[in-house]
Amino acid sequence: MLDREESTAPMARTRPVPAPRPRQRARHRVVVVGGGFAGLQAVRKLARAPVDVTLIDRRNFHLFQPLLYQVATGSLSPAEIASPLRGVLKRQTNARVLLAEVEGFDLAHRRVLTTDMATREADAVGYDTLIVAGGSEYSYFGRGEWEQVAPAPNTVEDALEIRRRLLFAFEAAETEHVVARRERWLTFVVVGAGPTGVEMAGQIAEMARRTLRRDFRAIDPREARILLLEASDRVLASFPPRLSASAQCALERLGVSVLLGRRVLEVDEGSVTVGDAEGTLETIPAGAIVWAAGVNASGLARLLADASDGRVDGAGRLEVQPDLTVPGHPEVFALGDMITIRRRDGKLAALAGVAPVAMQQGRYAARVVRQRLQGRNSSPFRYHDKGNLATIGKAKAVADLNGLELSGFIAWLTWLFVHLFYLTGVQNRLVVFTRWSASFLTDGRSARIITTGGADNPPAPPRPRSDRA
Ligand SMILES: Cc1cc2nc3c(=O)[nH]c(=O)nc-3n(C[C@H](O)[C@H](O)[C@H](O)COP(=O)(O)OP(=O)(O)OC[C@H]3O[C@@H](n4cnc5c(N)ncnc54)[C@H](O)[C@@H]3O)c2cc1C
Repeated sequence: MLDREESTAPMARTRPVPAPRPRQRARHRVVVVGGGFAGLQAVRKLARAPVDVTLIDRRNFHLFQPLLYQVATGSLSPAEIASPLRGVLKRQTNARVLLAEVEGFDLAHRRVLTTDMATREADAVGYDTLIVAGGSEYSYFGRGEWEQVAPAPNTVEDALEIRRRLLFAFEAAETEHVVARRERWLTFVVVGAGPTGVEMAGQIAEMARRTLRRDFRAIDPREARILLLEASDRVLASFPPRLSASAQCALERLGVSVLLGRRVLEVDEGSVTVGDAEGTLETIPAGAIVWAAGVNASGLARLLADASDGRVDGAGRLEVQPDLTVPGHPEVFALGDMITIRRRDGKLAALAGVAPVAMQQGRYAARVVRQRLQGRNSSPFRYHDKGNLATIGKAKAVADLNGLELSGFIAWLTWLFVHLFYLTGVQNRLVVFTRWSASFLTDGRSARIITTGGADNPPAPPRPRSDRA
């Protein structure tokens, strides 16, 4: 193993283990950072190429983030939306997986600087072509401390923490004798009415109104208040206005209070303070707060920018060329949520941070690598937008399929089949389909167990500002 100082020296060796077989030594080495939607597609599409692929990720699994909110609300268990990367790639003999955190890039010497997740030792991995797809994370608008009190469903751990807080709030309400405090425990606030916020609010409402309605003796979970806060003037702002209105209607029918034009000014354990356009402030006491607003690129974008003298935008996304390469480094691709594309006309192409964009970019990068090895030219990346989907609750969704606007049951069926189709692994598809069928028939949520923190680590009781010294 090399330590970091050695590894940044100009003549330092690259990672020596495991030794490639002699036949492979001269092959083109592709290193892919990130086994998410973009990275995994790139690796898979290189299966038949004459290259050796190393996939580096700090997690040992590919996570299907679009269904994380169902883990957060007890419909699915984490393993049902996560697939071990080694299992996914077990038949792809030209690919190996490295469980490591990427800490930097030495573009001059074509090496990725890593820390081994098992041993915490520093290392360096050499490449001929580098593909970086580190994704994104939720942004708290410069108030990182809010993350502690208002978790966002970004990782499995986050989703479990949200699930713990939601379920704990019902438990605390059940034993609370003071009416005002019980009402506080039964108030759930979701910040941000994009697809994730809408899906979270709809699921919390269904959990309270349907799944839990007979589970408690002192409280009626159906009395829970679910508030969806949004700074703009409509939910699902990336959808056509008619579908936004339809989604809002469906949410309200489920019992979600949609509060538009509310900007979050303060968040702490147990309350959210919002302001509207007139400057009116309101502090909302809450039993659990879920964050679903604002996204920042993975820190890998900044690391790549620093290594290449590149630029990042306000959301931390790295500017790349129309062929998704880093300016000045045609051998380095950056993909997915962490990039923005500077087009030939000089304008920035703002592609949505969604899985289809990332997957198409992963496939594109693999194709360009293959074309280059064959001495062929490639054309710039073009995104083929097939539409936009969001679900609101049982049998309710909206779909904008390139001008075809659907809502209700048909949209929900479309949503269901698209998500099953893209979920990684046949076993996961079968299990998730079975779970969804059971939930549809019984309104049950078999994964509503409190597994982390628990009684030893409960969230502090929510207190409104007026209660404090
Ligand atoms: C809650 C939620 C719901 C969503 N719902 C939808 C939806 O319904 N439809 C849709 O199309 N999109 C949805 N998205 C967006 C979609 O998940 C992303 O657009 C997509 O995951 C981006 O793919 P990516 O490959 O860029 O990044 P990711 O899929 O996030 O993969 C990034 C990978 O990089 C790894 N990584 C990051 N940093 C490092 C490092 N330093 N070292 C090593 N590895 C690292 C991570 O572990 C991860 O495996 C949702 C996202 C979230 C969070």
